[in-house]
Amino acid sequence: MAGIGLSWPSSNFTDRPKLTSAISRSSSSRCCLSSVKMTVSVDQKKKTFTLEKSEQAFNAAKELMPGGVNSPVRAFKSVGGQPIIIDSVKGSHMWDIDGNEYIDYVGSWGPAIIGHADDEVLAALAETMKKGTSFGAPCLLENVLAEMVISAVPSIEMVRFVNSGTEACMGVLRLARAFTGKTKLIKFEGCYHGHADAFLVKAGSGVATLGLPDSPGVPKAATSNTLTAPYNDIAAIEELFKTHKGEIAAVILEPVVGNSGFITPTPEFLNSIRSITKENDTLLIFDEVMTGFRLAYGGAQEYYGITPDLTTLGKIIGGGLPVGAYGGRRDIMEMVAPAGPMYQAGTLSGNPLAMTAGIHTLKRLQRSGTYEYLDKITSQLIEGILDAGKKGGHAICGGYISGMFGFFFTEGPVYNFEDAKKSDTAKFAKFYRGMLEEGVYLAPSQFEAGFTGLAHTPEDIQRTIDAAEKVFRQL
Ligand code: PMP
Repeated sequence: MAGIGLSWPSSNFTDRPKLTSAISRSSSSRCCLSSVKMTVSVDQKKKTFTLEKSEQAFNAAKELMPGGVNSPVRAFKSVGGQPIIIDSVKGSHMWDIDGNEYIDYVGSWGPAIIGHADDEVLAALAETMKKGTSFGAPCLLENVLAEMVISAVPSIEMVRFVNSGTEACMGVLRLARAFTGKTKLIKFEGCYHGHADAFLVKAGSGVATLGLPDSPGVPKAATSNTLTAPYNDIAAIEELFKTHKGEIAAVILEPVVGNSGFITPTPEFLNSIRSITKENDTLLIFDEVMTGFRLAYGGAQEYYGITPDLTTLGKIIGGGLPVGAYGGRRDIMEMVAPAGPMYQAGTLSGNPLAMTAGIHTLKRLQRSGTYEYLDKITSQLIEGILDAGKKGGHAICGGYISGMFGFFFTEGPVYNFEDAKKSDTAKFAKFYRGMLEEGVYLAPSQFEAGFTGLAHTPEDIQRTIDAAEKVFRQL
């Protein structure tokens, strides 16, 4: 897996891209950030770690919202204890309502690649907001972001903006079926493509975390055309194409998996899928909701040099506001209404605030040195964590690409979800709580990838490794 056996960068981070808003970890810089409303003053930094206020707020939330949250993994079920309730975020850090400060490796599940609450993005949002928050009609900002996405992502010649990754995947599946006139879909075990019915089969992410095989409420008919195969298993795909000859509309995959933990594809796997889909007039869909603009500016398809027919995006292209998108070959995209007959629509799609945050986030990513910096800090982080784990006598493996990483409490290697499930999740839960107390916020599940961003400093990374060493010794 990437990251293992790579030569180790020294602590020379002088080529870090210039960030006008990057904060240092000193509290003095934080108190100057007037654009973010803080209810917790810097001087209130707690001496002992307590989550009293978070506990109270979460208990109240449980009476108001199912499980106390609006998205399942946030409830910390797989790591135990109660979740922390966030008060504010800035750069690579976040603060909870008890006044605890954390180095954040979740980054709002991916969007915060240039750092949270970036000053330039906030200023641009304030300008756009003066003109209104929603038009429900075309605006120039849509053209700008569409052009940026089309020129960045190799497979995308035309794009449709929606409001979430789930919506993007729903739309792209309907489009693939409309274009090919076929109905079956192949997805991979442990890959998550949002919560639309057709995808809720062996779906990784929260479904894996909560141990839900498939969700009640999904009618059999909705998943009867969804075929699954283990990730990185070329023979299984060949078999499916033989058995269902002429019936498969699309193969969808996370080109690098983040929803079973971090798992990389073998190059042969991606190459084989590309050729078998071409041979069978089946569309290849890369779900780059997570990997888009993260592994490289052009996503996993640029990183691996393999061009799918269609691509879904989300997270980063909304810069922290709700956005998704799907795009691809012009002849396919021209099926989408109103250019063509495939219906898909959205009240808030192309929202001016979301477009603004996306545009300014991508502009920042275009600066030279971005992906080199992400690669450097993330390699240092993951190697440091793996070394610390091994020194502590624990079975651990992991890897990274650019600003995406993960590690499993098993010897590995991990090629698919079955391998990932061998991980010692009870140990992960203990490690997780230990890291939280040390001020490090990781994704609260063994089956989620971690994210770094341009606001993470070498000091953040070193503090995280020091914390990991301490926690591993105590496990
Ligand atoms: N696809 C992938 C690969 C994802 O990681 C996610 C969300 N983590 C989605 C789709 C769904 O996106 P959203 O949560 O924005 O609906």
